[in-house]
Amino acid sequence: MYYTEKTWIFLDGKFQKATQAQSNLYAQTLHYGYGVFEGIRSYQTEKGARIFKAKEHFERLLNSCKLIGIPFETDPEELTQLSYKLLQKNGFQDAYIRPLVFCGPNMSLTRPKEVHLMICAWEWGAYLGEQLLKLNISSFCRPHPKSLHIAAKACGHYVNSILATIEAKDKGFDEGLLLDYEGFLAEGPGANLFFGKGKKLFTPASGSILKGITRATVIGLCDELGLEVEEGRYTETDLMKAEFAFYCGTAAEIAGIESVNGKKFSGNWAESAGKRIQDAYRNLVREKKVNHLITSS
Ligand code: PMP
Repeated sequence: MYYTEKTWIFLDGKFQKATQAQSNLYAQTLHYGYGVFEGIRSYQTEKGARIFKAKEHFERLLNSCKLIGIPFETDPEELTQLSYKLLQKNGFQDAYIRPLVFCGPNMSLTRPKEVHLMICAWEWGAYLGEQLLKLNISSFCRPHPKSLHIAAKACGHYVNSILATIEAKDKGFDEGLLLDYEGFLAEGPGANLFFGKGKKLFTPASGSILKGITRATVIGLCDELGLEVEEGRYTETDLMKAEFAFYCGTAAEIAGIESVNGKKFSGNWAESAGKRIQDAYRNLVREKKVNHLITSS
């Protein structure tokens, strides 16, 4: 349930009740997927709700608009303040925040004249499960980087992610793993991939992936934990030589992977560097200081 009669959203410059808010059925975004969005988390900390890396997310939202040509400019700081206000109005601490920039009625394939901003949020408690993911190599590849602006978090790109996820679940897997158009490892439908051996980690380089904010956080954590990270082009064979692997993203946080196409990783997740990163990430987002790990905004 994303909303009830009590839920507030921010739409077109004002806070409104989700049940009363309206949008146009002739919207260009609805018909063609021409819009952009973000997925942001807020965590309950000792100092109250804290939105993790708000600035990075809102900067990416604005950059996504710029990349695909949606005329929408504003101050990321203002969007952050609005999001805090939204959390407060709804009484949320642990929450998922979803800003969406969408275009007004326009059935032609031209630059939109009317652009709207919606920010909504729903409660998202701490994930307690520790289940490792079973992946399949998707039969869908990531979109060709010359077909779209891969760095934009655009609505329409997610048809690819939905197809891969439906396929994975229909075949009894938890998630898909998508390759790029040349057959190199790319990413999950909504998360970036890391894999490793001992203290060395590997992650697909930019090109066919959405370079996640969590991915950057993981690279920073590796530095603090004395782990080496290499970015490159890797194959499925490289992946299966690894001892551990994980997906990372704002929603998934750090999710350990058990197997790919039924083949298990050789290491024990609980003793892997992946698990250390998972713990460090959980503490970081909740602003808990553990060992030498200093938290940032
Ligand atoms: N790749 C894709 C395709 C995604 O949708 C996401 C989620 N935004 C990610 C990677 C991870 O990005 P982030 O860490 O910024 O949430």
